Amino acid sequence: MKRESATENVKHFFHKAAELLDLPDDMRRTLINPYREITVEVPLRRNDGRLDLYNGYRVQHNNFRGPFKGGIRYHPTADLDDVRALASLMTWKTALTGLPLGGAKGGVTCDPRELETNELEKLTRVFTDKISLVIGPRHDIPAPDMGTDSQTMAWLMDEYAKIHGHTPEVVTGKPIGLNGSFGRTEATGHGTALVIEQATNDFDQIPVTGAKVAIQGFGNVGLYAATFLDQMKAQVVAVSDYAGGIYNPKGLPLDQLTDFPVQRRLVQEFDDADQVTNEELLELECDILVPAAIGGVITEQNADRIQAAAIFEAANGPITRSGEDILLDKGKLIFPDILVNAGGVIVSYFEWVQNIQEFTWELSQVNAELKRILVKTYQQVRQLAEEKKTSMRTAAFMVGIEKVAEATQLRGYLN
Ligand code: NAD
Repeated sequence: MKRESATENVKHFFHKAAELLDLPDDMRRTLINPYREITVEVPLRRNDGRLDLYNGYRVQHNNFRGPFKGGIRYHPTADLDDVRALASLMTWKTALTGLPLGGAKGGVTCDPRELETNELEKLTRVFTDKISLVIGPRHDIPAPDMGTDSQTMAWLMDEYAKIHGHTPEVVTGKPIGLNGSFGRTEATGHGTALVIEQATNDFDQIPVTGAKVAIQGFGNVGLYAATFLDQMKAQVVAVSDYAGGIYNPKGLPLDQLTDFPVQRRLVQEFDDADQVTNEELLELECDILVPAAIGGVITEQNADRIQAAAIFEAANGPITRSGEDILLDKGKLIFPDILVNAGGVIVSYFEWVQNIQEFTWELSQVNAELKRILVKTYQQVRQLAEEKKTSMRTAAFMVGIEKVAEATQLRGYLN
C-alpha cells in the first residue's frame, strides 16, 4: 500500500487548526509552503573504491520569528516529502514553545548503518559544503536527528569553519568537548518523559508510577525516554530498533539494555524477553505507547488495534491523518510531536544562546529551564484543547500558527 505523504499529513493538521483560528486564506497560503528547498547530490567514494551518489536536502520552511532551525536526518526514507513535512513541523514547534526561531530540516537518503565511520565523516563534510551557503548562525542552524549524532554535528561544525571561520553557534547538538550543552544529548527523551509526567498527573486514569510503557525506537530519543520514565517508576515493557523489539509484560531490566545502542547491538540480542516485530510492538497491551523512531507507523491499517490508552509522539509524524481519526474516535489520547519531542529543540536553543554568549550553563540550569518551558507549553495546549473542545494536536498547532501569523502580519508580509 502507498505510504501517506508526510507533507500532506502536516498540511491536513495545519488546516484543521487554521480553520478553528479562522485564519484568512492569504495567511494560510503564505504559511503553508516552505521558503526554500534545496536538493544536492552527495557523492561518496566508499572504502571499497566504488562511488555512491546520494540525494541530500535542506528545506527552510519559515523564518518570520527567527533563524531557520532543524535537524539533519540520515535514513533510507529521508526523501524530499519527508524533509518538507519535518521542516514545517519545526516551524510550529519552535513557535509553540516560544523560541525565537523558525523551522527547517535536512536529510540525506542513505542508510548510515551501511557506512563506516570514516565514510560517514566524508558524507557529512560533502553535504555540509553543499549546503554551507544557506546555513549560518543567524540564518539556519542544523542539529541532530535520526541517523546523526553529536559526532556528526562536530564534523559539520568543523567543515563550516573551514569556509567561514570558527562558528560553533552554526550547529547545535555538538559534543560537550566542542561547545555542546549539558543536557542536549538526553533532552528529547527527557522532555518526552516530562510531558508524560505532566499528562499522567492530569489524566489521572493513568498515573506514571507503574504505567506500562511500550517504546518503538531505542536510539537517542527512545533510550533517554525509557531511562527517565524508568526513574519516574513507570514500567517499560517493550523497546525496539529497526530490526525488531523485545517485550516483557513485567517490565524490562533497562540497566542491562542502555549500552545496546552505543555498542550497535540489536535489542533482540537480549535473551531474557519475548521477541516482537515493530508492528506487533505498537499493538501490545500497555497504558502508554511512545513511537520514537520513524514517521507514518500508525495508519488506518493498524489504528483500531492500538491498545494503549495514550500515545505520546516522541517521533515526528508517527500517526497519519487517517490513523488519527480512528484513534480519536476510539477515545485515545494523542499527545502531538510538536509538544512531546520539543525538548530537543529547546535545549538546542539553550546551546545556541550559550555559544553566542560564550558562557556555559550548569546542567541544573538547563534542566530547570527545559522543564519550565515544557510544563508551561503543556498547560497552554491542554487549556486551549479543553476550551475549543478539540484535540491536543489541533490546539498545539493553533498556538504555533497564531504566533507565526502574528509575526507575518507585524513584518508586513501581507501588505
Ligand atoms: P536515532 O537514529 O538515534 O534512533 C532511531 C531509532 O529508531 C533506532 O533505534 C533505530 O534502529 C530505529 N529505527 C530506524 N528505522 C526504523 C524503522 N523503520 N522501524 C522501527 N525502528 C526504526 O534517532 P533519534 O534521534 O532517536 O530520533 C527518533 C525520532 O525522534 C525521529 O522521528 C526524530 O525525528 C525524532 N526527534 C529526534 C530529536 C533529537 O533530538 N534527536 C528531536 C526531536 C524529534
